[in-house]
Amino acid sequence: MPARTRSLQCLLLSGIAAIGLAITVSCSAPEPASPPTQIHTEAVDTHIRYLSSDDLKGRDAFSEEIALAEDYIAERFREAGLSEFPEFPGFKNRFSFEYRPRRNPDAAPVTYELQNIVGFVEGTDPDLKEEYILFGAHHDHLGVRGEAPDNIYNGADDNAAGTTAVIALAEYFARTHTNKRSLIFATFTAEEKGLIGARHLAANLPIQPDQLVCMVNFEMIGKPAADGSWNLMYLGPEASTLDEIFLEAVDQDSEITLVGPEEHQIRYFRASDNAAFHAEGFITTTLASPQSTDDPYYHRPNDHYEFLNIDYMTEVIRTVVDITEPLVSGEATPVRTGGGDR
Ligand SMILES: [Zn+2]
Repeated sequence: MPARTRSLQCLLLSGIAAIGLAITVSCSAPEPASPPTQIHTEAVDTHIRYLSSDDLKGRDAFSEEIALAEDYIAERFREAGLSEFPEFPGFKNRFSFEYRPRRNPDAAPVTYELQNIVGFVEGTDPDLKEEYILFGAHHDHLGVRGEAPDNIYNGADDNAAGTTAVIALAEYFARTHTNKRSLIFATFTAEEKGLIGARHLAANLPIQPDQLVCMVNFEMIGKPAADGSWNLMYLGPEASTLDEIFLEAVDQDSEITLVGPEEHQIRYFRASDNAAFHAEGFITTTLASPQSTDDPYYHRPNDHYEFLNIDYMTEVIRTVVDITEPLVSGEATPVRTGGGDR
């Protein structure tokens, strides 16, 4: 019930009580929860504040502290009521990785135990639930480097922002459960070491490869464009018809404008986790702020929470709900168009 209707009722009942009827009226019932059909700024803010905090020491995939981020994401999935794939108990897609540093190829390889965080919301349609849309983002960053007073690379925009989008969308779809297709929510480890987590999941999906309709990746959605415009960029328009589906579905009242990449941004389609899925033959895009490819704080210690615009980010996530609706409902199926390899 909207809060306003309730206070009118309270007023009315109080009035009746006041004219002498022996009625005890309690108007102290809690306010109804916010509408379930929204992405809430407060939740977005809470997730990104934690994920970009100094406690996590920059979320280096080979550090101990990355487990704090991973546990946080898995806990949010659990709380939201996501389902676990039997292969990934506790939402954890664990694997060993033998790492050879690129700069020192003669050094002995080191084996690390890594994990992606993966859960799903089953589709409501008996047939379409066999088809999956994957929402993904990398949760790792660069860790702690050097001796400067601020040597923690918090990676608030890169990519606590994208990770927050995946959590917020998981919470939204688990709450509304209006998706006819099934939805996978995945956050990847070790993107900064060479798309390691995404490569592992793309090659070891818990579903048949032909069940994955497309993969939508999020990178650096924490800041509007440099000129202040609330734009959101889709990468890889030459690779599939996803961009056409998005542009058709965008809500004309949205504060967000969808834009394609400029010439110098085209190559970023090959720069994030979507590229690992593209290489396996899947249809993918990365959604990013146009600012992301030119940000002065990119891969610097001052990629901080304080420089993000949480209202913009929340609006971006709401827009993602709108533009992916035809995918989620099964009304639209993207096709690969052959590009995306330059
Ligand atoms: Zn990134």
